[in-house]
Amino acid sequence: DGLLLDVDDLQVEFRTREGVAKAINGVSFALHEGETLAILGESGSGKSVTAQAVMGILDSPPGFVTGGQIRYCGEDLLTMSEEQRRQVRGPEISMVFQDALSSLNPVFTVGWQIAEMFRKHRGLNKSDAQEQAVRLMERVQIPGARQRVKAYPHQFSGGMRQRIMIAMAIALDPAVLIADEPTTALDVTVQAQIMDLLKELQEERRMGLILITHDLGVVADVADRIAVMYAGRIVEHADVFDLYGRPAHPYSKGLLESIPRLDQKGHELAAIGGLPPNLMRIPAGCSFNPRCRYAQDVCRVDPPPALRDLGHHRGSACHFAEDVLAGTAQQTRREI
Ligand code: SF4
Ligand code: MG
Repeated sequence: DGLLLDVDDLQVEFRTREGVAKAINGVSFALHEGETLAILGESGSGKSVTAQAVMGILDSPPGFVTGGQIRYCGEDLLTMSEEQRRQVRGPEISMVFQDALSSLNPVFTVGWQIAEMFRKHRGLNKSDAQEQAVRLMERVQIPGARQRVKAYPHQFSGGMRQRIMIAMAIALDPAVLIADEPTTALDVTVQAQIMDLLKELQEERRMGLILITHDLGVVADVADRIAVMYAGRIVEHADVFDLYGRPAHPYSKGLLESIPRLDQKGHELAAIGGLPPNLMRIPAGCSFNPRCRYAQDVCRVDPPPALRDLGHHRGSACHFAEDVLAGTAQQTRREI
């Protein structure tokens, strides 16, 4: 059925001198071939940590996976040997990071760095690897690739460097590509171009794509499904059109209201007041309750169920999910 990744009840803790932070507290999701899942949340919500756990680049202190499973094609990555894991990380599951400049090595040409993937993992000789590097640079639409293969990272713009990172990430034809805030450092026009490129490559190669972002506007056109994270949990999981049309969690609703929309120019954006909780002191009841304009007494006491099923493949971790969805939730606070 094309199931690539199956994450089940993932738990991650960070142990610091001040105490234990529950960075991920029971995250579950699936990713299929050819599917794009956006993981959305503010900084500190656990979206990058989730990606790092899947990628297997978390297994050193202070971050620890303390529970759950991450199955790739049926095999639990968390119980594999480090040697098996190395064969998955990179060739099968690959990642693009936010900061292309610090991910590229300044002292080697970009062509050399891309070609290195083919030399190391595919055993190609120097000139074949270089030729593959040129082709990949052309594929990610770097103008004059054949000449610029000999240029150094600092000779490229931020957008072009991100294209180079994408080229390296897809060099070995991974089944899953994870992009963590791939466009955050770029201007809006370039952001859209990079998103289009990722989408194109994903369709061409039938990859499963995970897009991690704090910006709902950036993923609207490319994602199939969205998982909204808050304080280490997924609080809403839905098809992108359903979530945009009618969010079923007050936090997603707040995020939607804070996106600038062309059809509402001049309207003030409604940012969500307050800050995400300190993960060492997650509020009792619903972790969103101090910021939620629909919070009632029960919300300060009882944690809502993890992703209550609302039909249409959507779930929401809110006591009043049906009311939020129907637009009939009772507002208990005006501004926070
Ligand atoms: Fe708001 Fe309560 Fe729903 Fe939490 S459970 S999101 S506090 S209404
Ligand atoms: Mg991050």
